[in-house]
Amino acid sequence: MDEKDYTKLRERMIEKQLIARDIKDQRVLDAMRSVPRHLFVDSCNQREAYEDYPLPIGCDQTISQPYIVALMTESLQLKGPEKVLEIGTGSGYQTAILAELAEHVYSVERLESLSAKAEKTLQEMGYNNISFKKGDGTLGWPEKAPFDGILVAAAAKKVPGSLLEQLAVRGRLVIPVGDSLLQELILIIKGEKGMQEYKLCGCRFVPLIED
Ligand code: SAH
Repeated sequence: MDEKDYTKLRERMIEKQLIARDIKDQRVLDAMRSVPRHLFVDSCNQREAYEDYPLPIGCDQTISQPYIVALMTESLQLKGPEKVLEIGTGSGYQTAILAELAEHVYSVERLESLSAKAEKTLQEMGYNNISFKKGDGTLGWPEKAPFDGILVAAAAKKVPGSLLEQLAVRGRLVIPVGDSLLQELILIIKGEKGMQEYKLCGCRFVPLIED
């Protein structure tokens, strides 16, 4: 397959998986139209990179289904000037989408090998607005707080308190919460006086591991 074939697959993904399921934010659709998702998976999986399901990325981890990436990103309502924290860099695909839409992305991953590989992929693509950290993301990245948006790509038993603390006022946190079988994608918006919580949908993520 050449780049033209991948561009076609990407366009079909946008129409059938995202627009058809009500993803409306034009900036999110454009970002997902431009980022070459197939370059974030192993060569044996590249043909499947635009299908409607997650794929393995090694170390028992997965790159999220395109629709879930779009839904989580859209729920952050990024306009451009934001500082975003991502927990669970994984392949770096979601990181690239965030880097297209915000001013700076801080991405934390506990597995050294995945973090290093993602950093290399994203550097080769020319992104210069991403900072990487290896470690336990449940602690956030306090030195860089507060964040306008926080996206957690692994399922927590409960929302980590440090992430709530590191969220700016009017900031948005999207996180899957639940056990290994049943999880819900939750959006939390921090107001002047307290937090508002919204349930987005059922979902299934790999677990967020507390080290
Ligand atoms: N969004 C990624 C997919 C991430 S899969 C992508 O697009 O490819 C979830 C990732 O979260 C895995 O890489 C896993 O190692 C990482 N993870 C799990 N618990 C973590 C923790 N406590 N801190 C940081 N990363 C964690």
